[in-house]
Amino acid sequence: MPKRARTLSPMPIFDPLRLPQFLKARGSKRPQLHATVLWRHLLRTPKATLDSVDFVEGFPPSLLAAVQLHFVMFTIQLVRKSTSSDGSTTKMLLRLQDGFDIETVVMRHGCTTARKVEGEKRTTVCVSSQIGCKMGCKFCATGTMGELGDLWSGEIVEQVAMASFLCNVDVRNVVFMGMGEPMNNYVQMTAAVSSLIDQKTFGLSPSRITVSTVGIVPRMEEFTEELGQRGVSLALSLHAPNQLLRASFVPAARAYPLTRLMRAVDIYTLRTKKKILMEYCLMSGVNDAPEHARELGELLTSRKEHVLLNLIPYNDTSVDAKYNAPSRKDVEQFADIVMRDYGVRTTVRKEMGSDVAAACGQLVTQEGEDQAKAKEGGKSGGGGVSSKQQLGDMEDLFGGSMLSVRKKERKEAWKGHVQALERMKHDMGEVLGGGGGGEAGGKRSITLDDMMALVHQEVAHDPTYTPQKDGRPLWKLK
Ligand code: SF4
Repeated sequence: MPKRARTLSPMPIFDPLRLPQFLKARGSKRPQLHATVLWRHLLRTPKATLDSVDFVEGFPPSLLAAVQLHFVMFTIQLVRKSTSSDGSTTKMLLRLQDGFDIETVVMRHGCTTARKVEGEKRTTVCVSSQIGCKMGCKFCATGTMGELGDLWSGEIVEQVAMASFLCNVDVRNVVFMGMGEPMNNYVQMTAAVSSLIDQKTFGLSPSRITVSTVGIVPRMEEFTEELGQRGVSLALSLHAPNQLLRASFVPAARAYPLTRLMRAVDIYTLRTKKKILMEYCLMSGVNDAPEHARELGELLTSRKEHVLLNLIPYNDTSVDAKYNAPSRKDVEQFADIVMRDYGVRTTVRKEMGSDVAAACGQLVTQEGEDQAKAKEGGKSGGGGVSSKQQLGDMEDLFGGSMLSVRKKERKEAWKGHVQALERMKHDMGEVLGGGGGGEAGGKRSITLDDMMALVHQEVAHDPTYTPQKDGRPLWKLK
């Protein structure tokens, strides 16, 4: 299904591409500076709106009326907002100007039942980058919609601004794990990220922005040189330990085989000196067997200093009846093998917000499915989403409290590693059981911040580092 080119009128004022273009076309000699001045005024002035502004110091007065005519603060409308019973997660169904629906998920830290922190307002916002997604991963609800369009960079930034305004939160982390494959909307995604990390305007820390991809290798390489070098984080949806299995449910793997993908991973970690988050969705009877864990361990063990593995028990979404959630025992066993036998740092995701269908594998809108059907003259975009299903996200990974070996233990040798494993096994019951209790009784659920600290911890850079297999280098960087 061909993707539709989208035109917006009025345009989003926070669009980092369109506003400077507009100002330049109307005679501004310093369009980027003038755009920054206006954004800064709107963001830093309490209750400022574009309509109410009549003067901005440093902004050409002759251009203000034209900007007010062609731009608005928000092009997106809130359709529905639902918050999970524990208050941790708010899911916003948003309607774009041309009628398409997307979803943005707000995850608050410190208010889960497992770990309450009074007054805690730090928040992660999971943004969408496309309307639907063409990658067609077979277990993913969003993939059933097909690719209906790309978001403008201003619409991506607007999701963050809306989350802040509508949910009254201080946005600390932004993850590109909502609808769409961000690398397939690369120009708009990079513009949005650049705007969010611009210290003169939004001012988020680069390391607190994470872009997740299913593995579009050429774009990963570009990302490494452009945003990775500036400190922006990358996550890879791996989901399988070998090419054959991966290609069977991740169609992108046919274009970008695992060997090529892992080379892109190695280049990212080497060039940026950052760790990469590997996401692995465990599906019962598909990729959760002990032999899969061993194969994954083999794949990652030579890279263990540079990788953090996040296991995500599949979330039943009825996208396709053949995919089911794994048993707790199988998840424990899988994590045990990759940690104990291969020394790979591993976390198991605890769901947040599953009672508002904002959890992993659920990001698709019934409205979106209808939109996809309308585009196809009544045919479904793919796997047949149940009419009960409303919303969800395959790649909403950072949202949960997670479990990991502690930082200092990672530096210990084998003995310490075994101790950490014992603790993890103990904690595993807590996390997988979904019970509360925080740190009581030696139990430990780590927060997103702990997790991010692990991911973003500087890798001790070894210029001679080369990933190895069977004692032989896999490749050498020229
Ligand atoms: S898992 Fe990600 S890349 Fe795959 S179809 Fe879903 S949104 Fe697209």
